[in-house]
Order: sequence, then C-alpha cells, then structure tokens
Amino acid sequence: MIRIEVLTLFPELFAGFTSSSLIKRAQQRALLDLNFSNIRDFAAPPHQQVDDTPYGGGAGMLMKPEPLAAAIENAKSRLPTAKTILLSPAGRLFNQSVAEELCPVQQLILVCGRYEGVDQRVIDLLIDEEISIGDYVLMGGEVPAMVVIEAVLRLKTEVLGNCESIKDESFAPTATGERLLEAPQYTRPPEFRGLAVPPVLLSGNHKEIKDWRLAQARIATQKKRPDLL
Ligand code: SAM
Repeated sequence: MIRIEVLTLFPELFAGFTSSSLIKRAQQRALLDLNFSNIRDFAAPPHQQVDDTPYGGGAGMLMKPEPLAAAIENAKSRLPTAKTILLSPAGRLFNQSVAEELCPVQQLILVCGRYEGVDQRVIDLLIDEEISIGDYVLMGGEVPAMVVIEAVLRLKTEVLGNCESIKDESFAPTATGERLLEAPQYTRPPEFRGLAVPPVLLSGNHKEIKDWRLAQARIATQKKRPDLL
C-alpha cells in the first residue's frame, strides 16, 4: 500500500482522475490510499492569501511560505516517513527509472506549485526532492502529480503491488539491462488495408516471437529514440 497526499490549491482538478477506474481499482485492492489537502485552508483569514509579490521584482506572484509550510507539516504529521516531492520544472527529470525508484516508497507527499513557483525557503526546509515531468512549463504541478501517481501506480497494479517492471513494455529493463521502446504490436484482423501482420506473430513459436520482439524493439529504439541506446 502506498499512501499519497497531494497538496494543491486546486483539488477539484483531480476529480476526474480519482474517479478513473485505475485509481479506484488500486484503492479497492488496498494498493493506494490517496488524499488531498487544499493549501488555501492553511492560509490566514480573513483573506486566506496564498501568493505574494517576489522580492527584487519580476513578473507574477509566488506562493507564500507560511501556508505552504503549514500544509506540508500537516501532511507530514499524518505521513511521518513520507518522501516530500515538489513538482517543479527545475527538478530531476521524471522517467520510468524514477517511477521504479518511487514505487516501493510507502508514503509520498506531492506538492503542486502554482503562479511563478514557491518561496525557496520552503524548498530548503521541507522538500526532499524536486521532480520535473519535462522541459516545458505548465501552469501548475497538478498534471505532473497525476503523471507521477499514474506511472508509479501502474507498476504496482499491473504486478499486484510488487513494483516490478512490466515485461516487454517500453523503458522496462530487458534481460540484458537495455531500456528499449516496445516492439510494434498487432491485433486482428491478420490483414488490414493491404498490410499483413508479421507472420512470426501468427507462428505460435514463443521463442521466435520473443527474439523477433527484442530485435524489433532495438530497431524502433534506434530509429525513434537513439539516445536510449
Ligand atoms: N517560474 C517557474 C519557472 O520558471 O521554472 C515556473 C512556474 S510554473 C508556471 C507553476 C508550477 O507548475 C510550478 O511551481 C510547478 O509546481 C508546476 N510545473 C510547471 N511545469 C512543470 C514541469 N515541467 N514539471 C513539474 N512541475 C511543473
């Protein structure tokens, strides 16, 4: 079971996500306990302001340290061993290896930034790691948090909580330790608009199919993502 608490100014963005079958099934199978805290609830009344102008000038607003720190500390009181991650374009680039690394973690706090980001002192004091989902800037950390949750959870749900890589899937390590793209896949019919399914896949010879898939995975990776090789 992984316990995840997401800290966000927009918990409503997760409504569709949490009602998806993947997340529901994981909760039903006791693989996941997912909760949300609204950072605004930790801001001082009457205005419950969560942002402020940056020292030194510049465009946009920053998340104020007090409500964010209070929200993180509150989550830590429930998840005392949690790894606390800030979703941030400045973070370590998220990929399948990072998902595999996070999968065995039992408690996770995911902090979603908004505006132009968060006061550095909150990062220095309370964040264990910053994670980026790619070299582009989104409006908030909510979509990145969903990306992290889904990638981690997929490893858990597909293999019943063992955090193992899913065999033959893109980026999963092969027996030789390579991380490749998936080989091309086909379903019925055997011929579609003049294009036939490669005969080996219809042969029933499992060894030949396995060898063909590995060879095709190497070809696809060489062609589309040579940086992986
Ligand atoms: N001013 C920041 C910068 O230049 O790096 C961008 C802030 S962004 C508009 C607001 C929030 O969205 C960030 O604090 C972060 O939580 C989230 N975010 C945006 N892009 C992201 C990415 N590629 N990966 C993870 N989080 C991201």
